[in-house]
Amino acid sequence: MATVDTAGAEAPPPEELTITFFDVGQGDCTLIECGEGYEILVDCGSNRRGAGDRDRDDVAAFLEEHIEGDLDVLIVTHPDLDHVSYLAPGSGRTPAPSVVGDRHVGLALLSLDEAAYRESATGVRLMNWLAGAAAPGAVRFLTTADASAEDEPSDLFACGGASIHILAASEPSGSSDTSMQRNTPSIVLRIESHLAQPFTALLTGDATWETHRAILERYSAEFLDVDVLKVSHHGSRTSIPPAHLLPIDMPSVAGPHWPWLRATSPDYAIATCGHRGGYFLPRCEVTREVGSASSLASVGCHAVECGAPAEGDCETIGGELDDEGEWCGYATTRAVFTSQTNGDVRVRVRPEGWVVDFERGQLDAAACE
Ligand SMILES: [Zn+2]
Repeated sequence: MATVDTAGAEAPPPEELTITFFDVGQGDCTLIECGEGYEILVDCGSNRRGAGDRDRDDVAAFLEEHIEGDLDVLIVTHPDLDHVSYLAPGSGRTPAPSVVGDRHVGLALLSLDEAAYRESATGVRLMNWLAGAAAPGAVRFLTTADASAEDEPSDLFACGGASIHILAASEPSGSSDTSMQRNTPSIVLRIESHLAQPFTALLTGDATWETHRAILERYSAEFLDVDVLKVSHHGSRTSIPPAHLLPIDMPSVAGPHWPWLRATSPDYAIATCGHRGGYFLPRCEVTREVGSASSLASVGCHAVECGAPAEGDCETIGGELDDEGEWCGYATTRAVFTSQTNGDVRVRVRPEGWVVDFERGQLDAAACE
């Protein structure tokens, strides 16, 4: 039986780890509450293409309630607007403060370099805000050399009783595609909880198949096998490796064809995306591929919206059709959640086990028959 040494100088382990994926529409904003007043915010922004339930004020109000004192760690996976816009103070006639408010930021970890953020007006405001919110030396730009060894979690920070590995940061892209170039450098984190039940999650930012490939080369499949996977890049097609890079026999094998999904084999997969936003994310082919993972927990039937090309073969569920694509319903009993269908998704890890809560979406086994 596990015992806790309450007589020692060390604080007792926290009783709960919570990861909240906010429904900010097309964007990412994830709060990790480590217990004992230690919080990590990973990205926070939205480009408002496809509204979410939570706007800037809603997120600020939530953070006000949930962050005790300083924000211990801020992680910015990459400079894209939909990951930083709520962190930077707003501009315009009614300038809004950062969602972090006037809190001090203990440590800020970003990909790439400062110049990459200063390419946009929002990025300039982010950098200027951070210069005041964090102490000099507390803003660090991570490189590929900061990737953790498998048996050695990052010594930059921990999360209560959980340890964190940096799996990728500032990974270079070999692609001529600008979306690949912007997103491949995303910071990817692996969180491993040391509460009574083992629990692991991967936060992937807007990582692409190139980032996945670098991670697959660096770590064992056993290490990458996780409970909860944030689906990279809002379920965009940049997750999909080109066909010639897939193992040749894969199409005949049941289950996911992508090495990334086979290795991570999640129990729960969560994609963050806007309500019928202009990018038609998550893409149906990504949603289906993720849904084919036999590792996924069975949660009862629910329909997840996904976007397909206009000439695609999808079950249209009404709504906007345009030249770019159409919206489809993907009915599944598997644990694939999206913020646009399910609202905020929260993972709560406790000593007795872990659960995933979501705001809305019907789970009804009969509906899939
Ligand atoms: Zn994004």
